[in-house]
Amino acid sequence: MLNWKRKLLTNCSLCLFLCFATLPVLAKPTPQRKPASTSSTIYQQAKKELPEDFYTLYRIVDRIARANELDTRPWRVVAISKYDVNAFATDVNLIAVYDGILDQLAGDSSALACVVAHEMGHHVKRHIAVGLAQKNELIAKIQEEAEKEVLGEQQAANQESTSAIVGGAVVNRVVGGKFGNFVGSVLGNQGVQRQADSQKRINQIIEKKKKELEERLAQQERQHETEADEIGYVASVKAGFDPEGCLRVMQVLSQIPGSETDTGHPSVPKRIEAIKALMIKYPPQTLGKEGEARISKTKPLTYDLSKDQASLRINSTHGGSQADDIDRRFGK
Ligand SMILES: [Zn+2]
Repeated sequence: MLNWKRKLLTNCSLCLFLCFATLPVLAKPTPQRKPASTSSTIYQQAKKELPEDFYTLYRIVDRIARANELDTRPWRVVAISKYDVNAFATDVNLIAVYDGILDQLAGDSSALACVVAHEMGHHVKRHIAVGLAQKNELIAKIQEEAEKEVLGEQQAANQESTSAIVGGAVVNRVVGGKFGNFVGSVLGNQGVQRQADSQKRINQIIEKKKKELEERLAQQERQHETEADEIGYVASVKAGFDPEGCLRVMQVLSQIPGSETDTGHPSVPKRIEAIKALMIKYPPQTLGKEGEARISKTKPLTYDLSKDQASLRINSTHGGSQADDIDRRFGK
């Protein structure tokens, strides 16, 4: 049995910009309403019964999913009441959008569509599953290697230390008196010092390995962001949105401190250059035609609002009701 109320952890690599957050989601939708019969009625109904942000997000996901053949899976959108100019992808097909980005992109559905398509891109490319699984595996491996290395070095140092003490004891027995004690203690101390030195060196190796791992992961994250930016542009433009929308998102992000440098994300100036290159590589007109052809062959997707009204599911082409599906298959 699924536990509907879940605590979801986000990963910074999957954000539009940098972020760390936890997200409780009450996912089970309200009981089904009767679907509207035509596209104009379903959109009118949605506008009437959904909060404005959800209505906009529904229309955006509906168009992007249908234009890009991403309508065979359900999408869930969560609005987070926090002023953060950001959005992220998490769990399975879940997109979270902060109030801050909705506020900053108010009145610009093309820019918001680019953000949503970027997050859908992370899911399409399976960045979440691959990224988290790989990271956990690599960290476990480094810890294991470090423990083995530390243990090996310590054992070697202990052996030296033991032989030094034994040596001191032999000298003590042979030479006797104060001189023997002095030689023994010097040799013993040298072993302890060596042990401390090798421990220090091992810590340095671990630090170095961790830094290398962090850099490798950051590189991978930047690659994921570049891929998601590409999908953000292509998928939103195929859905009929303004190609300049992605550039307007970047203009907003460029005002956030730290946007000029590479982190888990490429710097915003680099992202702007990459989007401009995409606009040449994939002419908006061609993309728009491809998307329109697909949209015209499909029907509007249905939607369901969660009980707590904090999230919206945009249903796949299967619809949102198992009961209706059974009725369709076997009759009422
Ligand atoms: Zn991203």
